Amino acid sequence: MKINEHIYLIASGKMGFDWTHPSDCNVYLLHSNDELALIDTGTGESVENICQHIEMHGFSLDQVTKIFLTHIHADHAGGAEMLRKKTGAKVFVARDAYTILRDGNEDKIDLTTAKQNGFYPVNYKFTPCKADTLISDGDHFHVGSLTLQAIDTPGHSAYDVSFLVQSVAGHSFLFSGDTVFYDGKISMLYTHDFQLHSLQKSIDKLANYQVDLLLPGHYQPALSNAKHHLKIAQNAFSSMNIPKNIVE
Ligand SMILES: [Zn+2]
Repeated sequence: MKINEHIYLIASGKMGFDWTHPSDCNVYLLHSNDELALIDTGTGESVENICQHIEMHGFSLDQVTKIFLTHIHADHAGGAEMLRKKTGAKVFVARDAYTILRDGNEDKIDLTTAKQNGFYPVNYKFTPCKADTLISDGDHFHVGSLTLQAIDTPGHSAYDVSFLVQSVAGHSFLFSGDTVFYDGKISMLYTHDFQLHSLQKSIDKLANYQVDLLLPGHYQPALSNAKHHLKIAQNAFSSMNIPKNIVE
C-alpha cells in the first residue's frame, strides 16, 4: 500500500488493516534512490507476504539493505531474522535490547504471558536474531537520500526507539512504534517493563519535533498534522490524566 513516494505499508494485522497475520504490527517500507529499508518486521508469520508485497511494488528483495526495529516485542521483531535471510539486510536494534533479541528469551519480551492470553497462537515461536548494528539515542542512519534520526522513547517497553525521517521535499515522518498512536493513544500493557512515567517523558520529547506524518506500529497513520496527535497525548499527561489506550 503506497503512502507516498518514500513510504509503503507492507504488513498490518488485526490491530490495523487486517491484511497479514492477525498479530502483526504495521510494517513499513522506506524507499529512496533505489535503496529500501524496513521499519519493523511483524511476527515472522507473514514473511512470504511481506516479500510478495515488496515485489508487488516493483522492487527486488536485495534492495532492502536495512531493517530497523522500534522494539523487540514479537509482533514487531519476530520476523527480523527471516527477513534478514531473505533480503541480506542488516538489522538495527536498540543497544540494550541486543542480548534479549539474540537469545530470543520469550519471558523477557512477555511473550509467554501474551501467548497464554491469546495475543499469539499458542504454538508460536519467536525466532532469535543477532543484530548487526546497535542503536543509541541521536544516531543518524541513511536510506538513499533520506536521513533517519533515532530517538530513544522508552515506556511502552524498556527499549523503544522512534525514527524521525526528513524528506528532501521538507516533510518529516515519525515512525513511532508503540510509543504513540493516532489520536494520541498509547499502548499501556501490564508487562514487566512498561513504565508510564518514562512513556510520558518520551511523548513529551517527541512532541517537541516538527512532524508531518505519524506512522505508528498499529492502527491508522496520520498523513498530515501529526503534531496534533502527539499533542493530544502530551496534553492528557500534562493535565494529570492518562491518554486513551489503543486496546479498550
Ligand atoms: Zn509492543
